[in-house]
Amino acid sequence: MTSEPEIVDADHPFNKPSADLILRTSDNVDFHVHKSILSEASPVFETMLSLPQPRKPVGLARSPSTKFAEQIQELKNGRPVVKIPELKNGRPVVKIPETAASLAMLLQICYPYKDPDMSDLDDTMEVLVAAIKYEMDHPTTVLSQRLQAHATTSPLRVYAFAVHRRLEEEARFAARASLRFGLNTLISQDAPEMFDISGVDYQRLMRYVVRCQTELPLITKDLSWLPKGRPFEQESGTVGWETGREPPWYGCGACRGDFGVSAWWDPYLGWVRQRLAERPSGAVLLGMPALVDQASREMGLKCWECRTVSGLGSLRAFTKYLAMEVDRRTAEIAANTTFC
Ligand SMILES: [Zn+2]
Repeated sequence: MTSEPEIVDADHPFNKPSADLILRTSDNVDFHVHKSILSEASPVFETMLSLPQPRKPVGLARSPSTKFAEQIQELKNGRPVVKIPELKNGRPVVKIPETAASLAMLLQICYPYKDPDMSDLDDTMEVLVAAIKYEMDHPTTVLSQRLQAHATTSPLRVYAFAVHRRLEEEARFAARASLRFGLNTLISQDAPEMFDISGVDYQRLMRYVVRCQTELPLITKDLSWLPKGRPFEQESGTVGWETGREPPWYGCGACRGDFGVSAWWDPYLGWVRQRLAERPSGAVLLGMPALVDQASREMGLKCWECRTVSGLGSLRAFTKYLAMEVDRRTAEIAANTTFC
C-alpha cells in the first residue's frame, strides 16, 4: 500500500483565510489564492474557473484567440477533461504542473506584494514559460524584461531557450545581446539549452553576428549619416549638435592635414572600426573609456589645440552618438531576421 504524499500549505501571503481557491503544485504545496486576482491576471484561469479545463495545456502560442479556439475545440472533440477533484476547507483544489518555487514567483508578480527574486536565469525561464502558458500579460512582460537583462551575460542560453519555444522577440534580443561578445567568447559559453535547438537555429545566430561584424565597421568609412555641427552631451544624456561650429576633428587649424581632418582622427576611427569588427555593440563602445583615452593621448601627442575639455567632450559625444547608431542598425538587421 502506497502512502499519500504529504501536502503542505504555502507561506504568507498564500495562506490567507480570505482565499477562495487552492492551487496545488506538482510538489504538493497548496497555495490559497483569490479567484478574482487569478481571473484578472490570466484569461486561462478565468476560463478554467468557469469551464471544465482541457487535460493538457495547449502550446505556448501568444495569440489568446487561437489558444482559446483550440481549447474549445478540444472540449468539443470530447477529449478527457480534468474535473475539479476535491474541496479543502470548502475551497476547490486545482492541480497544476508547476513547482511551488515557480508558482510563488509567478503569483508574487500578480499580487501587490514584494517583487520576487529573479536573479536566477533557470527560474526566470521556467516561470516565463508558465506565464505565457497561462496568458498572464503583466508577468510575461516583467519576466521577459528580466530575461533581457540575463541575455547581456548569457546570450547563448537565452537565445536557445527562446528559439526552442518559438519566442521570436526574446530570440531577437538575445541575438542582439550576443554582439557584446566576440564570436570566440560566444561559442565557448556553456548553454545546456543548446541541446534543444537545431544546427539551423544556431546557424541563424552565427549569420546574424557575422553580418553585423561585417556591416557595422563600414559606418565609420562614410560619415554622411552624422548630423552637421559639433556634438555635445546634453544634460538629458542625449547628444546635441551645435550648428555653425565644426567638430574638433575638422576645425583645428593647428593639426589639420592635407585632407582637412585632424591628424589623430583617422587612427581613432581605425580603432573604432577594429572593435566593431569584433563586437558590434554600442555598449562595447561606451564601455571602453580607454578608446577615448587612447585618442586623447594621440591628440595630446599630436595637437594641444585639439586636446581641450571641449574637444574631448565632443569626442565623447561623438562616440555616444556612434554607439546609438550602431545599436539602431543592429536592431534593424535583427528586426529583418527570422530567428525562430
Ligand atoms: Zn588639432
